[in-house]
Amino acid sequence: MTPLASELARQIAATGPIPLNQFMAACLTHPVHGYYTGRDPLGAAGDFTTAPEISQMFGELLGLSLAQAWLDRGAPNPFLLTELGPGRGTLMADVMRATKSVLGFHDAARLHLVEVSEPLRAAQAKTLQPHTPTWHDTIADLPDGPLFLIANEYFDALPIRQFQRMGDGWSEKMVALDDTGAPCFGWSPPAPLADLAYRLDDTQEGDIVEVNPVAAQDAGLIAGRIAAHGGAAILVDYGDWRSLGDTLQSVRNHEPEHPLANPGNADLTAQTDFEPLALAATKAGAAHSRVTPQGVFLERLGITARAQALAANLSGPALEAHIAAHRRLTHPEEMGTLFKVMSIHPIDTAPPPGLDP
Ligand code: SAH
Repeated sequence: MTPLASELARQIAATGPIPLNQFMAACLTHPVHGYYTGRDPLGAAGDFTTAPEISQMFGELLGLSLAQAWLDRGAPNPFLLTELGPGRGTLMADVMRATKSVLGFHDAARLHLVEVSEPLRAAQAKTLQPHTPTWHDTIADLPDGPLFLIANEYFDALPIRQFQRMGDGWSEKMVALDDTGAPCFGWSPPAPLADLAYRLDDTQEGDIVEVNPVAAQDAGLIAGRIAAHGGAAILVDYGDWRSLGDTLQSVRNHEPEHPLANPGNADLTAQTDFEPLALAATKAGAAHSRVTPQGVFLERLGITARAQALAANLSGPALEAHIAAHRRLTHPEEMGTLFKVMSIHPIDTAPPPGLDP
């Protein structure tokens, strides 16, 4: 057992089974044994890779879309340029490079990063040092002001709850202990749940649905700030409007494994449902765009022209890698369709370029 599995087993033995989201939160952000707490998980030597680590084009185009949204909102000065879960800082570094020639953007930008991981904060400090970032533990800690925000693969790392349909009620997935004292999955007795009443229409006996309480709360906080102070948010993640079934995924060394195999040492994620984020945004007084496939979003922003311009200076293996990266970001069988983009923006304004109202 990993040290975290032993600690959780002691806790469960003492006070009873815990819901999946408590288990997932401990695995990812436990102060000592959490997956993100102690390591930089990205890249070929790590456990997984992400769009900004695949190609600079991703951050460049996202940055230009965000800067255009800033111009369209009257170029407020100062404003908060914010990223949630910035990883190694690669995405924001690409945003900054691409927006250098947007008149006034860098002067007005105050860089605020929301990050739990100390090793990743250190990596971000190195990459983004010229732009003097300020770090925060949560969105609630951000100062007030016009908010221009990006997030890539942030929401998928937040802890989910899972519920299984039983009659008109729901049982919740719990982490309990098996005969040997090791953590195992189980289900709570079914009960009706007002928050899931809307899922009685599209589910059958035994179906599993997922709820991400922190994601919905974060979307509401972002939308409330944008409604009050102006701004725009571009959220990118794997998922769709609404999921059905168990999407919890555990990955270590680029290979899938059982979520209970190595608590604290494997990356746990789940698909992002954009519907609850959109509902939270509406409730907080902001608008949201349609959910758009990443490949379509990047094509609309001109990734093919950018790829050709970069290709002109490349040859041999570097050119091959560049062509493969372009395909990986946009092709329907790679990340192009699985990953989706949605904006949150003020009511009565257009979404950032690349997205439809
Ligand atoms: N956006 C980066 C990294 C994605 S990995 C990229 O695209 O490469 C997820 C990121 O979210 C990491 O930086 C991780 O440390 C951060 N993170 C995970 N859970 C978090 C939480 N609860 N609060 C703040 N940041 C979190």
